[in-house]
Amino acid sequence: MAHATPGKSYRIGMSDMECMDMFPDDKTAEAWFESHRWSNGRICPHCGSERTRVEKNRKPMPYRCKDCRKHFSVRTDTVMARSKISLRKWAIGIYMSVTNIKGVSSTRLHRALKISQSSAWFMAMRIREGFWQPKGTFEETVEVDETYMGGKQKNMPNSKRKQMTGRGTVDKTIVVGVKDRKTNQVAAWMNTTISPSIIPLGIMSSSWPIPTSSSRSGSC
Ligand SMILES: [Zn+2]
Repeated sequence: MAHATPGKSYRIGMSDMECMDMFPDDKTAEAWFESHRWSNGRICPHCGSERTRVEKNRKPMPYRCKDCRKHFSVRTDTVMARSKISLRKWAIGIYMSVTNIKGVSSTRLHRALKISQSSAWFMAMRIREGFWQPKGTFEETVEVDETYMGGKQKNMPNSKRKQMTGRGTVDKTIVVGVKDRKTNQVAAWMNTTISPSIIPLGIMSSSWPIPTSSSRSGSC
């Protein structure tokens, strides 16, 4: 039956199949990442130089800077750095994550990409960290709210589960969303290093990029 009123569950995103078709191999994925990262020409991520060259055999990495002489690839200094997961799988994983309203669980990445559960967990965390970075500052009155992310313990790899120290929200990632009332600009911050049970929202500003406020709405 057709949906008379498209709601959240009916929003159109990219299907898993379309993702797979868009990135048939690693070469396509690498070219896609490079075209987005270096749309105005390749730049050394170590020193910012534009004087780079392609390495013969592309090893240990495909590019080398003529100034600082360091090797690099499109992964260098990104969430994909030091990962053995192929660029094709990264591209599909990222696409799946950003085209789904609620994000994508590590178990879904595990099944869709045919990677281990621990690799899927690593990828999901890296994608969240990479896409939820603070940018700029708010100048008008903002609304602030927080939530906890981190998935269910039963879905975590054993290595991660052993590190857990509690239940419920303990060991989950705190994510704080901020909306500018005037511009509707939205941003989010996250923190995984401090126990959420001891942080009231109002005192986060000393270490978080959020203005001091003793309530959930404040002016900055
Ligand atoms: Zn360089």
